[in-house]
Amino acid sequence: MSVSTTLSQLVDVLGAQPVNLSASALVQVGTGIQTDTRMLQPGEVFLALRGEKFDGHDFVETAIAKGAIAAIVDFDYENPGFPVLQVPHTLKAYQQIARWWRDRLTIPVIGVTGSVGKTTTKELIAAVLGTKGQVHKTYGNFNNEIGVPKTLLELNTNHDYAVIEMAMRGRGQIAELTEIARPTIGVITNVGTAHIELLGSEQAIAEAKCELLAEMPSDSIAILNHDNPLLMATAARVWSGKVITYGFSGGDIHGHLIDNDNVEVAGMHLPLPLPGRHNATNFLAALAVAKVLEIDWSSLQAGVMLNMPTGRCQRFTLPNDVLILDETYNAAPEAMLAALQLLADTPGKRKIAVLGAMKELGERSQQLHQRVGEMVKNLNLDGLLVLVDGQDAEAIARSANGIPSECFATHADLVERLKTFVQAGDRLLFKAAHSVGLDRVVNQLRTEF
Ligand code: ATP
Ligand code: MG
Repeated sequence: MSVSTTLSQLVDVLGAQPVNLSASALVQVGTGIQTDTRMLQPGEVFLALRGEKFDGHDFVETAIAKGAIAAIVDFDYENPGFPVLQVPHTLKAYQQIARWWRDRLTIPVIGVTGSVGKTTTKELIAAVLGTKGQVHKTYGNFNNEIGVPKTLLELNTNHDYAVIEMAMRGRGQIAELTEIARPTIGVITNVGTAHIELLGSEQAIAEAKCELLAEMPSDSIAILNHDNPLLMATAARVWSGKVITYGFSGGDIHGHLIDNDNVEVAGMHLPLPLPGRHNATNFLAALAVAKVLEIDWSSLQAGVMLNMPTGRCQRFTLPNDVLILDETYNAAPEAMLAALQLLADTPGKRKIAVLGAMKELGERSQQLHQRVGEMVKNLNLDGLLVLVDGQDAEAIARSANGIPSECFATHADLVERLKTFVQAGDRLLFKAAHSVGLDRVVNQLRTEF
């Protein structure tokens, strides 16, 4: 059930300046605060965000025409007589409302951050908690300074749990998101090299992730990946509260990988909702959350249903038993290595990697692309096709010497080659940074093969 509040309450929460306002008017907390006029329903309050491409302040009149009862605007907005709440900064105001609303709820809030595996782990946690109650989770990848408040505002009094993904673009960002979401459980999946261009070193990345621990309430519980020594060491410096660890090297939730699709934990055999060692690690994080929230694992023995957002661990079959592992959503270096391992571990005739560049790696880029090529070689894959945009992707092919490799300059060339290259029983992994656009190659192959 959603809860109503008065506009005058919102004025108080924000310390806003009301203009032409009927302060006793009621608005639904949460979903009643709308930032997009295309979604706006009569009776809602429109909050005008200034973005890179659009400025919500240009749409205030549209919002009022569509039945908004008021708009939240900043002091640069010239008010032509509409009911508005003026605030210094509308994004801050959005976050303040979200935090205020979150503080009125007493449910467990699970914050998830890390270099890779956030969305996957969030989905796994939500699926596991879903066996016990109503779960609200971050939709898609709405994990930033706008997405986190949006997700919190979608919470209503029917929800038993909230699972919130938190992304980092730079120092201080996780701290900011943590202050808004105030997690009762904080999960850090790992620390790697994603976004190293921004932060300079893995240590700096570890510290940025651990802002989650530094900023969360002191009676919250940290859930940490035991297999990641840098994370464990950094966390110990900033967090003195309760910790539950998970992993394959040890920890409170100590897993043993049986095969690509099964794990054993505390004497219990559990099927993996997603294949591969890296996903098994993500699943252990979800089991740790379940343990903290006293949810019995035995209900998970029958399997957990997941509906992953596209391009992550999706499997498609083409005619003649050709399997596509669609990992085109993105490619951090750790994710690239994990996906190659999954390809190598997938039973099948030939294992072929179809790869493209990884992005945002700064001066480490060449070296990290070489490492991918070396892994292709060490895994002794049967073929490597690389879509080259810029020099870095080529380094993959160069350092995979010994493995039959081909490079392509355009998507069309790659698609044409794949049509003749692929044989019955092949296993193909597609992975690159999202901007490389390998998803288009997968889609074309699926329709034309
Ligand atoms: P983003 O920063 O884009 O939000 P994310 O952290 O949410 O990414 P996911 O979307 O869950 O990450 O996963 C992205 C890719 O990372 C997956 O397709 C998979 O290849 C890989 N991955 C997921 N979990 C792990 C893990 N624990 N270790 C290594 N790689 C992983
Ligand atoms: Mg994500």
